[in-house]
Amino acid sequence: MYSIIIWFLAATLMIGEVEAAEVAKLKQDVYAISEAGVTSLVLLSEDGVLITDPANPERAKALQAEIAKLTPRPVTRIVLSHEHLDHVGGTEAFPGAEVICHLSCKAVFDLDVGGSAPKKVHAVFNDQHSFQFGGRKVTLIHVGPADGFASTIIHLPEDAIIYSADLYADRYIIPGIWMDNDNYLGVLKALRLMRDLKPQIAVNAHSTSTSVQALQENVTFVEDLYQLVSTQINKTIATKGPGAVMDNIPRWSQELKLDQYKDWSNYATEFPAHVRRMALSIYHGG
Ligand SMILES: [Zn+2]
Repeated sequence: MYSIIIWFLAATLMIGEVEAAEVAKLKQDVYAISEAGVTSLVLLSEDGVLITDPANPERAKALQAEIAKLTPRPVTRIVLSHEHLDHVGGTEAFPGAEVICHLSCKAVFDLDVGGSAPKKVHAVFNDQHSFQFGGRKVTLIHVGPADGFASTIIHLPEDAIIYSADLYADRYIIPGIWMDNDNYLGVLKALRLMRDLKPQIAVNAHSTSTSVQALQENVTFVEDLYQLVSTQINKTIATKGPGAVMDNIPRWSQELKLDQYKDWSNYATEFPAHVRRMALSIYHGG
């Protein structure tokens, strides 16, 4: 009997690993669909469906199957959160859909050798771009260099919903290897901007949580990190001159701590990389 229960539990866990999609209804005609480690915002309308970040061809098919359970209408618009290739693949699974990305996406897509980037981007925008979709306002806000160059917040102002990608995680210190392309000053600016939009729901591309708590905690985390590192940089410049800053960054990475975050995953191993990235962002501008 117990072995049957254990087998059943094991089988359930294994099925769990295959990852069934998680579909969260946020508002009427607004969904967050999580599948294969990526969450897309999905808006339904009479004319078609808007999605964010299909990610890759396999996931795009799975997402399409989930959307088909909600509506017979096709995906007509795809908004990309930024240029990184783990977000932008799979657009060809939605023929006829208009692909929208910040204008700096294109330069990166032109350099893609692996075939992940969209074959075609139909519309680009600069600072901000608003449009109506199914009777609701959608605003795309480019936040400037943050995680990459095209980081865009998708804002539904009437619903107090935002969607963002790779700008924060849920009590998780992002591994340093993924930080090389981050401008931490831009990330701080983006997080403050998102907080100031006063969202009630914050969808994050690599999380199934839509709570604003993770966003708020990360504004504080990055502000604390900025304070910690900028104090050292200013002190060093005042006493030894700007030339001494670069020499000190490896030591600061090891010695500086924010132990109030020690319960966040990866704190012990990955926090030093965040000190380093913040120091370079402050001192070098990127
Ligand atoms: Zn990214």
